[in-house]
Amino acid sequence: MNKLARSSVFDPAVLAQLACPACYGDLRLEGSRLLCIACSRAYAIVDGIPVLIVEQAETIAVRES
Ligand SMILES: [Zn+2]
Repeated sequence: MNKLARSSVFDPAVLAQLACPACYGDLRLEGSRLLCIACSRAYAIVDGIPVLIVEQAETIAVRES
């Protein structure tokens, strides 16, 4: 059994094509989630598929630099 093949690792190449559904900002892969820095939301990645649903997003604290 190859566990890696079924992990929640997300393909960064796909990430470049995705945008935040709330503000259309860029998404950043962080751990097993996609973060939108622009509107401080975190989207879960389930079975390698990002759940880009605003209602299911977590609000995160992002420090401005
Ligand atoms: Zn956003």
